Amino acid sequence: MQLTGNYLALAYLVSATLFILGLKGLTHPASARRGNYYAMTGMLLAIVATVLDPAVKSYGFIVAGVVVGATIGTVIALRIRMTAMPQLVAALHSFVGLTAVLVAVGTYLTHSHEDALNRVLMTELFVGAFIGAITFTGSLVAFGKLQGIISGKPLLFRGQHILNLAMAVVMLGFGLQFLLHNHFWALLVMIALALALGILLIVPIGGADMPVVVSMLNSYSGWAAAATGFTLGNNLLIITGALVGFSGAILSYIMSRAMNRSIVSIILGGFGGGEGASGASTATAGSKGIKTAAVEDAAFFMTNAAKVIVVPGYGMAVAQAQHALKELADILESKGVTVHFAIHPVAGRMPGHMNVLLAEADVPYDHVFEMEEINPEFATADVALVVGANDVTNPAAKSDKSSPIYGMPILDVYRARQIFFVKRSMNPGYSGVENQLFYQENCSLVFGDAKKVCEKMVLELKAV
Ligand code: NDP
Repeated sequence: MQLTGNYLALAYLVSATLFILGLKGLTHPASARRGNYYAMTGMLLAIVATVLDPAVKSYGFIVAGVVVGATIGTVIALRIRMTAMPQLVAALHSFVGLTAVLVAVGTYLTHSHEDALNRVLMTELFVGAFIGAITFTGSLVAFGKLQGIISGKPLLFRGQHILNLAMAVVMLGFGLQFLLHNHFWALLVMIALALALGILLIVPIGGADMPVVVSMLNSYSGWAAAATGFTLGNNLLIITGALVGFSGAILSYIMSRAMNRSIVSIILGGFGGGEGASGASTATAGSKGIKTAAVEDAAFFMTNAAKVIVVPGYGMAVAQAQHALKELADILESKGVTVHFAIHPVAGRMPGHMNVLLAEADVPYDHVFEMEEINPEFATADVALVVGANDVTNPAAKSDKSSPIYGMPILDVYRARQIFFVKRSMNPGYSGVENQLFYQENCSLVFGDAKKVCEKMVLELKAV
């Protein structure tokens, strides 16, 4: 069976609609699962329709590719930890970039002696190869930084931005050479330079900004896919590429706004390399005048509270403490305590990180509040229980103009009557900045792994 003309266009139209419904579904935790199903159905339809396109002459490579790809994808999806998601996404973007380069080179070689090789097609090849090559190496560097293979520190050197600009201009020169004189070598030199530029653009960016960069590379990979869609004359690839390109760009904007950074300052790099305060014990805290508390103290305060606000962060994700936290909330509620969860837009290491984990632990959506909704509530909370969050609660963001996180909106934890802060050591959060909250009269640190501490709290609460 083959799909011709109108039927193929109709199948692509339905797929594109399903992708849009998928994105719409992903805007809220309650509809995210449905959104994923829409998108998966759209992709299945797109693949089947494309395979049934009469332009496809042989199936051997396609079947082999699907089997190998699906096997690798399934194994990775089953094994990946939630906290390692950003580097997985970065690795996947690198494939999109590489594909765009290979399609551009392959298309040129296939058509190099034909009339089909006009300026329009050559421009598409140039754009696809250019964005694809930058996305490929840029994503590999982002993957390396997030995985800890390369240092997460920003690598800055003198004249960096001028060098990047000069390279972009030279690449444009080679691009013109390719377009005007049909010189294949010029395309190859341009690709080599774009590969180098991808590395140079990402190495100055610190680990803390990497998730924003991954989202930006996501956007680039979308544009690379769209350019490939033009090259291959595939409308669905153009639409999908544009959806990915725009959604990645919007997400980068939302993330940088939530961190009160401009996209430009992130791209120029240099943030997040600080060592910050360190040390690993109650003694260190004591010597700095920081109070500590035992699990029993925290449990006692919470049982006697009318309202407890839980603030989860990256540490909760690392420790996988969400199930213990849910149990803790259930017990407190059974004792008549109101328990709300406060989510900062950039808590964790990717947007929606906390929402996903809390949903996985079956925390009801109506107990989970976004920053704007919950902030006025802190003033009436008897206890704020911070579990593995740090930067997103740091009042320095409001008061200390010299702080790198100054201006970042925070959860107003400092307003709660009593704060218990669960973490393992005196190490700072991802920005490398010490938390001023620790010095507040009403704040006590409870040292320990988030999951173990929450489990101990549950036992304590059950005992009272
Ligand atoms: P932070 O990275 O600021 O702090 C995490 C805290 O968790 C640390 O203080 C750490 O202290 C503690 N921790 C780590 N492991 C454990 C564990 N097993 N048990 C208990 N505690 C643990 O996290 P936040 O969520 O507050 O902030 C997120 C940061 O990431 C922000 O700076 C944000 O800008 C940045 N970011 C987030 C993005 C997103 O999309 N979500 C994107 C880009 C950046 P200790 O080591 O002492 O235990």
